[in-house]
Amino acid sequence: MDIAPQRSDALSDLPLHPQDEVECRRCEVHCDKVVYPSACLERACPFVYAYEEHGHTYMGCMQKVFWVEIDLAMLRAAQGRRDGFGAVKAFRKPLPMCRAEVEPCYEHRGGELGCVNPEFNELPAGSPTFRVIARLTDETQA
Ligand code: SF4
Ligand code: SF4
Repeated sequence: MDIAPQRSDALSDLPLHPQDEVECRRCEVHCDKVVYPSACLERACPFVYAYEEHGHTYMGCMQKVFWVEIDLAMLRAAQGRRDGFGAVKAFRKPLPMCRAEVEPCYEHRGGELGCVNPEFNELPAGSPTFRVIARLTDETQA
C-alpha cells in the first residue's frame, strides 16, 4: 500500500500556526483542546466573570477561551466528587494561565504514521505575561 500521498496531502494542509487552532482533524484521531473551568477559580484568573440570574450564579471567561457559562453551584458540587467538574471544549486558543489539555477523541484510530501535526499539541506554558501587583501606599509619607 502506498501511503506517501496521504501523508503529503496532510502535510500540505497544515496551518501556519497549528498551536493557535482549537481542533485538529488531520488524521482519524480527531483532537480538541479543552480547558478546566475549575482551574480558572483556583488560579484566581482576572478574566473570570460572574453574574446572578434567577437565583443562580454563573461564571464564564471574558476572553471566551471557553464559550459556555457555568452554574457555579454545579461546578462546586462537582469539585467535591472524585472526577471533579472536568473540562469543556476550548473556543479560542488557551492562554498561559489556563489549565488546558489536548483531548484525542478516537485514540484507537491512530495510524502507523502517527500524528502529522505535532505542533498542535504545544500548549502555552508558564506564567501569565502580566502580573497583578497590589501597591500599598504609606499614608504617613504623603
Ligand atoms: S483566560 Fe483561561 S484561566 Fe482565565 S477565565 Fe479564561 S479559561 Fe479561565
Ligand atoms: S493525532 Fe495529530 S494529526 Fe491527528 S488529529 Fe490529533 S493533532 Fe491532528
